Amino acid sequence: MTKFVYQFSEGNASMRNLLGGKGAGLAEMTSLGLPVPSGFTITTEACNDYYDNGRQISQAMQEEIFKNVELLEEKTGKKFGSLENPLLVSVRSGARASMPGMMDTILNLGINDEVAEAIASATDNARFAYDSYRRFVQMYSDVVMQVPKSEFEKHIDALKEEKGIKLDSEMDVDDLKRLVAEFKKIYTDAIGKDFPTDPKEQLLGAVEAVFRSWMNERAIYYRRINDIPASWGTGVNVQEMVFGNMGDTSGTGVAFTRNPATGENKLYGEYLLNAQGEDVVAGVRTPSHIDTLKDAMPEAYEQFANIAATLENHYHNMQDMEYTIEKGKLFILQTRNGKRTAQAALKIAVDMVNEGKITKDEALLQVEPKQLDSLLHPHFDETELKNSTPVGKGLPASPGAACGQVVFTQEDASVWAKEGKKVILVRLETSAEDVEGMHVSEGILTARGGMTSHAAVVARGMGTTCVAGCTELVFKSEKEIEINGTTFKEGDWMSLNGSTGEIYAGAIKSIPATIEGNFATFMQWADERRRLKVEMNAETKSDVERGLELGAEGIGLARTEHMFFEETKIKALRQMILAKNTEEREVALAKILPMHRENFTEIFSLTGEMPVTVRYLDPPLHEFLPKEADLQAELAAELGISAQEVAETVESMHEVNPMMGLRGCRLAICYPEIARMQTRAILEGAIEAEKKTGKKPHVELMVPLVAFEKEFNFVHDVIEEEAQTLIKETGAELNYKIGACIETPRGCLRAGDVAKKAKFFSYGTNDTTQMTCGFSRDDSGKFLESYYERNILEFDPFQKMDIEGVGELVETGLKRGRETRPDLRIGICGEHGSNPDTIEFLDKIGFDYVSCSPFRVPVARLAAAQATIKNEE
Ligand code: PEP
Ligand code: MG
Repeated sequence: MTKFVYQFSEGNASMRNLLGGKGAGLAEMTSLGLPVPSGFTITTEACNDYYDNGRQISQAMQEEIFKNVELLEEKTGKKFGSLENPLLVSVRSGARASMPGMMDTILNLGINDEVAEAIASATDNARFAYDSYRRFVQMYSDVVMQVPKSEFEKHIDALKEEKGIKLDSEMDVDDLKRLVAEFKKIYTDAIGKDFPTDPKEQLLGAVEAVFRSWMNERAIYYRRINDIPASWGTGVNVQEMVFGNMGDTSGTGVAFTRNPATGENKLYGEYLLNAQGEDVVAGVRTPSHIDTLKDAMPEAYEQFANIAATLENHYHNMQDMEYTIEKGKLFILQTRNGKRTAQAALKIAVDMVNEGKITKDEALLQVEPKQLDSLLHPHFDETELKNSTPVGKGLPASPGAACGQVVFTQEDASVWAKEGKKVILVRLETSAEDVEGMHVSEGILTARGGMTSHAAVVARGMGTTCVAGCTELVFKSEKEIEINGTTFKEGDWMSLNGSTGEIYAGAIKSIPATIEGNFATFMQWADERRRLKVEMNAETKSDVERGLELGAEGIGLARTEHMFFEETKIKALRQMILAKNTEEREVALAKILPMHRENFTEIFSLTGEMPVTVRYLDPPLHEFLPKEADLQAELAAELGISAQEVAETVESMHEVNPMMGLRGCRLAICYPEIARMQTRAILEGAIEAEKKTGKKPHVELMVPLVAFEKEFNFVHDVIEEEAQTLIKETGAELNYKIGACIETPRGCLRAGDVAKKAKFFSYGTNDTTQMTCGFSRDDSGKFLESYYERNILEFDPFQKMDIEGVGELVETGLKRGRETRPDLRIGICGEHGSNPDTIEFLDKIGFDYVSCSPFRVPVARLAAAQATIKNEE
């Protein structure tokens, strides 16, 4: 029989997949002899069993859970429901990957009327007993039975108003008793049953709630943006309660071994006295800095600082810890690798190597590639900033510069962002429900909460600018705030500096980030380690320059159609498209040739001897023709033909399914003169560039959308013939190869044939995904949401490769291609080229390079280094 429950003393760090991150951490700390309250973990496999079993906790699993409760009772000398020495527990989720605030937690479980009274007399602290009780009823009702939190808040607010008090801590025992009674009534009214008094029933309800929370909307969303599969499941940790709310010698807090915003090597964190854990994370009260704990409780501080150092050394990574002090005694409730900003991540990685604490490989694996994106985020223009005065200040929770229009709900953020607006999400505090809105916002501003509040942790993880805990921010109504006399209504512009915490009215211009310091060292380590080369998808001067600065080693895809967006070029292209016969087309092509050649001279002058893959015209041609009547008339006048003629041509080129229409190599097959002109422009550009730089360009001429060997061969021969003609004319020595963009399923399957003539392959996985899944690249957004909700797909296959399906085709093509031509150079130019999971797969199967947009190049460089390390393991 599968074992579904492990006491903390039975586990260790290597059992993370089974026990979840929190469970494995608690087990490991227990084995290190740290002060961890006893408990047990119900495994992630148990969660999967719950779902496989029609969302039921099987009888056998229930028995195993209760057997472990007995073991816990023996260890602690306490008993569920006992009036002498009652056992209260916390029940918390804990998946393999950390999902902060994504799932549910229940504290003080095991309490009922009699137990509360017993605790009150045993501790001689009735306030504590009833504070714990009312918290439990509220959390249990909310988390287990989905009675909205706001129902309870209303009662708390009413009570405070009645008594003329402001803080929770001002409520006395009678107030708390009254709340317990009122809360239980809310439960009964909502559920139609009395609040459960049996601790075992409470426990099963709580365990099931944690399992259920794995499939709640916000967890599904979080998993999707963080590439976490649903099949991992969550663990459930049941742990003896220790109490931070036992008076002023008790407290609870969160701390990092190093500063998660800057990476500074100094204990960093916050705590609240006389509080329970959720108060700190939820950001309801603004906590004190951990440095002040040194004075408040020197012994506990000293002990904590030592444990923090032990844990960092043990895990070889910066740790994020939760702790509780119960009447002066310290307990550690959690440790995990801390989330951090990109700047901090690089500093910590480099520092820890320099301190001799970790290896370079460990450092490389410590930084999430996606995070590097945020280093490339803009910051405010200095002169504009000097002329602006902040209207207020909050905590610098997540760095960066953001400006946008103010919205006040996550729903509005999502709707406005979909309309293409930039938004700043302003909230009193954020909670897990807000994540989707946070993700689409340029910046986040909250009135409450510290540097470890939900908003701060989540925004840092996302790399989104965030200013948290702005106490000067007052809500005038649901959609109007005031900061020190300045009013912001919905739609007003606001700018946030996430590095200083400053808030500005209006939009401040920002400029791109410059990369410095640890970045260069770290990326050099990545470059030393990676096997895959990293190139860029670019075709304009500025993009190519940007990509080269960011470390691209060539151009993996220059989409030539993107070179025609300028006014004069598009006119010539339109003339070519409207040509009625080859002669007319040749006239138009002759106009295009010099402009096109100049594009290549410019690019090759920048790339020197690096490989540059130029793809022949690919898109449906009618995309370049004007659709509106007045634009058609304008074009007709320019070309000296009738408007009707233009309209008719446009109409005749209309395709029912243009993605599968006259595009790709089919264009060159129908109009070989286009491919001839492009060949000449590219190779003449190479000759010119060589004259200028003295470096011989390495040109790869790529035929798009190949499905049939003969398609490729036909276009290949057109190109080769023109190249040979040019060589004869000029006597130039050229370094060029002709290859195929493999992006149709048939192309993958028949790659062995295509490789007879093709000297290289580049996989266009955007089209491969479209055609393999049968999902329109342009429209899939409309239905993929339903796929995520129904757990049919967990991620967008256009962002992360569908390795099982598309990946199998890609691998098949690679093997067959290399059987024919063992030295076939193979790369990827689809969007997946910077996706870390995809890169790991491509590294494993033997790709030579990946190519992605210039800004993503650093991400791909790091992901490629990580792939090498992981694939060696
Ligand atoms: C692709 O299909 O993956 C590709 C790179 O080409 P495009 O996106 O231009 O179709
Ligand atoms: Mg394509």
